[in-house]
Amino acid sequence: MNILVINSGSSSVKADVLDPDSRARLLKIRVERVGTADIAVTVDGEGVDPPGDGTDHEATITRVLQLVSERVDAAIDAVGHRVVHGGERFTQPTRVTDEVEAAIEALFDLAPLHNPANLAGIRAARAARPDIPHVAVFDTAFHATLPRRAKAYALPGELVEKHGLRRYGFHGTSHAFVAARAAEFLGEELPHLRVITCHLGNGCSVTAVEGGRSVETSMGMTPLEGLVMGTRAGDVDAGLLLELMRREGWDADAADKVLNRQSGLAGLSGIGNDMRDIEERAGDGDERAQLAIHVFAHRLRKYIGAYAAVMGGVDAIVFTGGIGQNSALIRYRATSRLDFLGARLNEEANRAARAGGDTPVIELSHTHSRVKILAVATDEEAEIAGQTAKLVHDADRISEAQTIPVAVSARHCHLTQEAVEALFGAGHQLKPRKMISQPGQFAAEEIVQLVGPKRTIEKCRVVGPTRSKCQVEISRTDEFFLGLDAPIRGSGDLEGTPGITLVGPAGTYQMEEGVICAQRHIHMTSDDAARFGVKHHDNVEVLIDTEGRDLVFGDVLVRVKDSYALEMHLDTDEANAAELSRGEQGVIVKTNAFVRIRRKQL
Ligand code: ADP
Repeated sequence: MNILVINSGSSSVKADVLDPDSRARLLKIRVERVGTADIAVTVDGEGVDPPGDGTDHEATITRVLQLVSERVDAAIDAVGHRVVHGGERFTQPTRVTDEVEAAIEALFDLAPLHNPANLAGIRAARAARPDIPHVAVFDTAFHATLPRRAKAYALPGELVEKHGLRRYGFHGTSHAFVAARAAEFLGEELPHLRVITCHLGNGCSVTAVEGGRSVETSMGMTPLEGLVMGTRAGDVDAGLLLELMRREGWDADAADKVLNRQSGLAGLSGIGNDMRDIEERAGDGDERAQLAIHVFAHRLRKYIGAYAAVMGGVDAIVFTGGIGQNSALIRYRATSRLDFLGARLNEEANRAARAGGDTPVIELSHTHSRVKILAVATDEEAEIAGQTAKLVHDADRISEAQTIPVAVSARHCHLTQEAVEALFGAGHQLKPRKMISQPGQFAAEEIVQLVGPKRTIEKCRVVGPTRSKCQVEISRTDEFFLGLDAPIRGSGDLEGTPGITLVGPAGTYQMEEGVICAQRHIHMTSDDAARFGVKHHDNVEVLIDTEGRDLVFGDVLVRVKDSYALEMHLDTDEANAAELSRGEQGVIVKTNAFVRIRRKQL
């Protein structure tokens, strides 16, 4: 496949033709000063004629497509467009239609500097090439998986509702790309790693990636929150802003200008936003430049520590962006005193490391460091091309999709024989009440009480036969009711899960671990898997096709065993959300190459 990736910014347009698999560039077009008389176009670094009929985005994109058709022999299969803000709606790469264009336009308020220019590029490219698919890839999308606790601002509910206030996060394409490259380099599956990715360019953000998903990120509703950046302040006390508005008589625009364009490295150093200049002046003894470096690195290290706490540890710390890929000084400062986390920098390797070109990934950690520290060259265009190609390819699969039965599994528990005897009396054997669809399993006559830290659930059905470990599967609603934090897990993956007290007619049994919210999953045979084109432990999305209220479930785990009966299992909360009664049909709409999730927290 050959994908054209267009990044249409307010004053520049970047267009790359690349093969999403090898990431090799066939062509690189750069247009600067779009919309001015000084508009300039280069192809692979060489200047060429600007557009003949204007300098706006439309003329620019027309010129870009003309250059592509002149210089690339191969056919272009699809166009991937970068879009900064996807709002609530766009949490995945999305095939562009007129309706999608209108929805991107409706998000202008959230990204007034970026989305209009992004959309102008999309419109011009679609008009010129209506014959091929156009896909929008959103900077915010990777962070759509932020758990509610990380997304929410502690503000009055009515206000939050009225304005849709929440944390979105940005640079998602870059965080996703470098996290995947880091896993590849380490020879691990990304879903098995806890990674902290530090994107340090002109804009800077840090993300905690757990189970292959973004679970925390430093930018918020806007890109202003978080790290110190080239010209943005990052975190400041909101009270300080109020005070300045009072004292200086600022309106919103004045505050915007100071916090977004005059602060950060530029504000601290008084030199400008370029880290190279600041490092040089700091080396010459300039105190403000030194302070800028101290504050920048301290803030970053603070976030790294915090994100390790969020994930209960960290396996890899990744530096990317112009500063992350090149600045030994910032990497050194940001990782110093992290021995307590098991992260030790190899100072010599760090000093020389510049990630990019032939060395896109460089290991910076000491041999004795448990945590891997890496510099990884980001490549947002390659990520956009990859996501675009995947969507186009997956769309072909949807047409071949087939239906599967969906079953709702209510709260239940599996017990060991020891627990059965403690709860129901010595020598007690579970009595089958009803066989359930998975062969050999039955709902038992027996019921236990679940005693949580906060409250008790009176009835929890026991599912037999007995197992080698106790496991209690509850819904999110149950979890809150009981007052505990049950992670989302596949059956049997119980390490580090909370315990609970079970009460039966003959006594109590204390489980040390084993309370989970079951991960949504589908049981199938290998024949089924071949038909659907998935494999064991793939992570798929499933569309539940209910009259007028379709719902797509993400993160559905595929479990393949020839003794299984084809069936998708949802818990009661999920089934209620989809307005399901037993026996509805689901359709696999999309697959992501993936495996099992460990230590995931939502
Ligand atoms: P953008 O966010 O615009 O894509 P980049 O990722 O190119 O920005 O990062 C720009 C930042 O990287 C600038 O602050 C620049 O000074 C810094 N940078 C680039 N090379 C080096 C280097 N060798 N040492 C320190 N900082 C560097």
